Amino acid sequence: MNQDGSEEWGLATRAIRTGHRRTAEGEHAEPIFPTSSFVFGSAAEAAARFSGDEPGNIYSRFTNPTVRAFEQRLAAMEGGESCVGTASGMAAILAVCMGLLQAGDHIVSSRSIFGTTTVLFTKYLARFGIDTSFVSLTAPGEWERAIRPETRLLFLETPSNPLTEVADIRVMAELAHSNDSLLVVDNCLCTPALQRPLELGADVVVHSATKYLDGQGRCVGGAVVGDAKRVGEDVFGVLRTAGPTMSPFNAWVFLKGLETLDLRMTAHSENALALARWLQQQPAVEQVFYPGLESHPQHALAIRQQRLPGGVLSFQVQGGRRAAWKLIDATRLLSITANLGDTKSTITHPATTTHGRLSEEERALSGISDGLIRIAVGLEDLRDIRSDIETGLGAILSLHNSSFGVQMI
Ligand SMILES: *Cc1c(COP(=O)(O)O)cnc(C)c1O
Repeated sequence: MNQDGSEEWGLATRAIRTGHRRTAEGEHAEPIFPTSSFVFGSAAEAAARFSGDEPGNIYSRFTNPTVRAFEQRLAAMEGGESCVGTASGMAAILAVCMGLLQAGDHIVSSRSIFGTTTVLFTKYLARFGIDTSFVSLTAPGEWERAIRPETRLLFLETPSNPLTEVADIRVMAELAHSNDSLLVVDNCLCTPALQRPLELGADVVVHSATKYLDGQGRCVGGAVVGDAKRVGEDVFGVLRTAGPTMSPFNAWVFLKGLETLDLRMTAHSENALALARWLQQQPAVEQVFYPGLESHPQHALAIRQQRLPGGVLSFQVQGGRRAAWKLIDATRLLSITANLGDTKSTITHPATTTHGRLSEEERALSGISDGLIRIAVGLEDLRDIRSDIETGLGAILSLHNSSFGVQMI
């Protein structure tokens, strides 16, 4: 799995120790190698490196020691043979498609994926002869019907964002394999601290390292994890040729982020569960979407598949867009931003931001109502997050009282 014999280690130890090879200086923290190229001892050594007869660094678009340390660490955490770091989460998804597909191939994807991934599939891959069908994340029958002889890839995110629907990765992997296809899972929301898709049968995991792997909103990056042939050769080949590789500086930030991932994901989940339970009791809230709630349709699956329910939840308020905006604008602590996976809690109105490009029908099909609000619950004191939202909920009630003359509580 990795070169330092860490197969025996638990997740937290891998996150802290795997991939670090100390230089002769004896430094305790991981070194950064901000260099574009590497020097050879002789013309013969240069030739041997280029021909592949001798392993070693040549140029940082191909390999870089800091990026390699990150790759080895994340591979060990996901339980994969190979990992490649990329310039962003989108570069990871693009590299998977370019490395594993060709013109004429077909993708079946869940409808509820990251918006830019949808654009990549429908606007760009389509131009190169790769067609995508979109189906419901939670209806394997729809996937089965959408699969064609030329289907090569099933693609999903679980839990979905913002509605936190959960797919059964084991079932989806079996479906992919019985149809000569691969299952690719975007594991951005859970991270390997909560869910390891490869152990459940998925073939490839993609990450936006920008989110929880960094965990503090500093750098954009991504990664692909899987077996040595598909990821270590095919996806890596695209990256070293096309160029959207990870920078050494970003890799170093992600290495440090991984060290606290397990602790952070536990704390994010604890805050989110407590907040979800509290939101359920608020009169202006119609519905709360969070896998940790007993009321969630895939709650049993979620607690079996994930170590914890994660940091993202959404809820629907009475009064549609006007009420949702009122709540968002009344908050003072929460950041109004579409990012997630940060120590800072963020609040978003999906219908007019992340899902704003969809038509009204597409939004309805995806379950994104005008009253829906997403919160990526951060690591501030729960009391302060709750009191900020309470102010917002109060603003909604006053809106209802003034416009309809109805006493809500
Ligand atoms: C953010 C995100 C991406 C894209 O990652 P970037 O680093 O922004 O390119 C892909 N998938 C999911 C689930 C995301 O949240």
